[in-house]
Amino acid sequence: MSTISDLKELLAQPRQIFITTHHKPDADALGSSLGLAGYLRKKGHHVTVVTPSDYPDFLAWMPGNDEVIIYDARRNDAQVREIIRTAEVIFCLDFSCLGRINEMGEYIRQAPGTKVLIDHHLEPEQFADLDFSNPKAAATAELVFEVIRDLGDQDMIDVGMGESLYAGIMTDTGSFRHPSTSRNVHLIIAELLNAGIDLSSVHRRIYDSHSEMRLRFLGFVLKDKLVVLREYNTAYIAITQDELRQYQSKTGDTEGLVNFALSIEGVVFAAVLIDRGQAVKISFRSVGDFSVNEFARKNFNGGGHHNASGGISHEPLEATVERFLALLPEYQTKLVTAPLAVAPP
Ligand code: 5GP
Ligand code: MN
Repeated sequence: MSTISDLKELLAQPRQIFITTHHKPDADALGSSLGLAGYLRKKGHHVTVVTPSDYPDFLAWMPGNDEVIIYDARRNDAQVREIIRTAEVIFCLDFSCLGRINEMGEYIRQAPGTKVLIDHHLEPEQFADLDFSNPKAAATAELVFEVIRDLGDQDMIDVGMGESLYAGIMTDTGSFRHPSTSRNVHLIIAELLNAGIDLSSVHRRIYDSHSEMRLRFLGFVLKDKLVVLREYNTAYIAITQDELRQYQSKTGDTEGLVNFALSIEGVVFAAVLIDRGQAVKISFRSVGDFSVNEFARKNFNGGGHHNASGGISHEPLEATVERFLALLPEYQTKLVTAPLAVAPP
């Protein structure tokens, strides 16, 4: 952990600032990035936010969204590379290893600017000059709030910034139900309410703004694609590219699917495997003791948190599912004896 005074000193004069977050940004990734960007702009810095890929439409309401540059290797590689090279400060939010941001990872590794990491994933890579990561935090947005507060500028958090940060904390805590939902989280939400955020409106914008096709897709998946393996307390869903096409699936439409698999009584481990063409992307979730961070790290070149992680496979979908199934016997003891409740961090 770095000290806030180092950061204060770094930001004591107007800087060229670059902010980025992980591939396929979720509400915490984008909300923490735009919350921080809003603050830094108010402080007089020049800020560019670049995401490594596109993100769901239900995040587009966040103030600052219109200025976000979405990296595209064919369209703006040279431009983004130059912004990274000339940035004086590079903020990396909500990811812990540079491999998670594709081509931009290497550009950042080689960039001369001061790198500041704000993140809550396990086992961070050591690439940052200033490190404000804390795996006990429920969300990166929680840490961004604390950084702004500790810089002495909490009163600069306006409704727009507050709602972006709220969206990150709300989604990463599963709407305040995961064990990461600490007293600190609720105290921060109280402060955001003081700043004037409208939390039911944020909830609606994130959770109740889907297309009709997305709901029909969900119906299809739950009826025809969900597989429950009682002997392993495990449930999984595998989705082909054809099925995504058939339901006109857009970025973000598959988010949350894995939680349906995990919501079945007795299930402690859930996976969703999706054929994205270039690779199969996998989401893992667990309840209790079973570490999906370890599972993803060891078997699918991924990582994340104890109860929420992801990974990737470059084999075809069917072969990936077979490999996943073949791994389960090795974990059977852990899966059937895993206590359902873990003490909060
Ligand atoms: P999701 O399933 O929502 O995509 O991701 C769950 C968690 O795992 C997130 O915190 C995300 O950052 C992390 N994660 C997802 N995919 C990967 C991956 O391929 N590598 C690593 N290291 N983490 C991932
Ligand atoms: Mn996060």
